[in-house]
Amino acid sequence: MSEPKQFKKCQAIRGTTDFAQDVLSKFNFITDKARQTALLYGCEEINLPVLEDTSVFVRAVGEVTDIVEKQIFKAVRAVAESKQDIALRPEGTAQVIRYYIENALNKKKPFHKLFYTGPMFRGERPQKGRLRQFHHLGVEAIGGTDTVLIDADIIALAVNMLDASGVKNKTVKLNSLGCHADKVRLTENLKTALAPYKDELCPDCLRRVLTNPLRVIDCKEKKCREIIKALDFKDSHLCVKCKDEFDKLKNVLRSIEIAFEYDPFLVRGLDYYTNTVFEIVSSDLGSQDAVGAGGRYNNLISNLGGPNIPAVGFALGMERIMLISKLKVAQPVIDIYVAGHNDNYINERYALVKFLRNEGVSADMDYCSRSLKAQFRAAQKQDIKYIAVLGDDEIKAGKIMFRDMMNSKQEMLDKVEIIKRLISFK
Ligand SMILES: [Zn+2]
Ligand SMILES: [Zn+2]
Repeated sequence: MSEPKQFKKCQAIRGTTDFAQDVLSKFNFITDKARQTALLYGCEEINLPVLEDTSVFVRAVGEVTDIVEKQIFKAVRAVAESKQDIALRPEGTAQVIRYYIENALNKKKPFHKLFYTGPMFRGERPQKGRLRQFHHLGVEAIGGTDTVLIDADIIALAVNMLDASGVKNKTVKLNSLGCHADKVRLTENLKTALAPYKDELCPDCLRRVLTNPLRVIDCKEKKCREIIKALDFKDSHLCVKCKDEFDKLKNVLRSIEIAFEYDPFLVRGLDYYTNTVFEIVSSDLGSQDAVGAGGRYNNLISNLGGPNIPAVGFALGMERIMLISKLKVAQPVIDIYVAGHNDNYINERYALVKFLRNEGVSADMDYCSRSLKAQFRAAQKQDIKYIAVLGDDEIKAGKIMFRDMMNSKQEMLDKVEIIKRLISFK
């Protein structure tokens, strides 16, 4: 006799979440609300694969970013088999742009607003509050002209999506990185401002000062945070045109009553942003308070080998929304339960269940031939409001006993009358 096999304990991967019905009901409800809002704003919805060539993200977000340095989740087996470097997508924007370029969407229409939802992945070891698999709702507005009216429209859409998702107490943080030349100037300004603090920065930031100084601003180390906070630099990096555009954007937002705060330290962790960047934060979230973020990225499409076309977009974190959403979402309950005595007329009961479902009424029954009492208890436990009883008397009369569980009233009806009754109650 061989030893019984020892199986590893069954458990989910750390940093992933199983959604049970109650959580999923809310997830789906919020997704639907976001979708309806996106449609109001003229978006088309797309659904792209979770697998993508790693180079799409490396080229888009830059080599020296946290995403590329440690966060990309590689599909190792696929890499070994096809010699292709495949990643589970860490974010949506670069992928949407890959799709846009590959399908030459600019030749079909000059302006696209694309809405997407789906899971995103992070390769590094999950820490507190950071998941390995998480979900985004995102929009990219690609083409048209490089106008702040589109920026305002995208910010308004993000805010409205959060309104529809039941997120309260939120603020838009807003900054402008400026055009490419301004961004270079911003980087230089920051380098100069950080020079006196070289000995006090964390080792990561010491490296970042040389490779990508803007990233120092996002450092989570306390000491670095204090240094950054004390720096005095505002919008001096902006050229006249970009400063004027930024002022225009603020005016548009004021005119549509979107509350915002200017935040000169908002630079976003990705290389591809130019001009407008924004983040939406909620005081309901605590220290990690961003619920979504976005910005303009006028050079990304050409960087990925596409035409020189401006774009702006955002992504919202679904898990963060779920955490603070004030929406109360009803759980699904079936309309009617078909009961009987043990296994008497069980086939007739099943035929009735099938008939009800075909008519668009959700119905179920006991499959285990239990007593009528046990079946009633099961229906009550699930909060089912109506029960149909099919027993000797009913079969003889050619009718069905229809019972309203809320007022305990019952009457003999035929199946068409039951349908009419249930539909009128809905
Ligand atoms: Zn500029
Ligand atoms: Zn640091």
